[in-house]
Order: sequence, then structure tokens, then C-alpha cells
Amino acid sequence: MRPLTERETAVLRRTAGGETYRQIARDWGVEEITVRTTGARVLKKLGANTIAHAVHLAWEAGILRRERHGDHAGYNAHKYRGETPCDLCVAGERKYRAEQQRNRRKDAA
Ligand SMILES: [Zn+2]
Repeated sequence: MRPLTERETAVLRRTAGGETYRQIARDWGVEEITVRTTGARVLKKLGANTIAHAVHLAWEAGILRRERHGDHAGYNAHKYRGETPCDLCVAGERKYRAEQQRNRRKDAA
């Protein structure tokens, strides 16, 4: 398999996180067709028929699995990569912050 470029991996990762090509395009300030073209290249490189198939294959290949999601670290990793955190990480971050606040309150008491 030819390795995915950073941009291709980003499209795949964000698609796996539930974002549409249109949302990704809007966020990056590019035309939707540009993201679609990148998506098509991802399918071709992975030998996938659909984007869902591509996500599955990428997961199996360890392309997506190396990433951490659903907690504070995952949330920060999204921010570091300049992405909108996925729903899982947003929920994890919310939980983390609530915990922090509880701890602060406990310290104050
Ligand atoms: Zn995430």
C-alpha cells in the first residue's frame, strides 16, 4: 500500500469522526471538490470501495488505531493537529474538566 499523505490521512480521520467532505472543506477554506478528490485518492490507495470501507481498512492497517480518542489527551492531540476534536474527544474533555472542577472544589473545602 502506498502511504497516505498527511492531508489524505486527515480527510480519512475526520471522515471516520463523522464529518462530511463539505464540513471539512468549509473548515479548511477549500472547495468541496478538492476534499472529494483527496477522498477518492484515499480509496484508491487503500483499495476501498467506499469511505466506510476505507476507514475499516485503515483501522486494520493501524493507520487510525495509533491515535487516542475519548479523553483529555485525545482532545489535545486534535487541537495540536489543528483539527476540530471528534465527538468522542469532546465528551472525554467535558468529563475531564468536570473532574478537575470537582477536585478544585474539594481542595477549597
Ligand atoms: Zn478524537
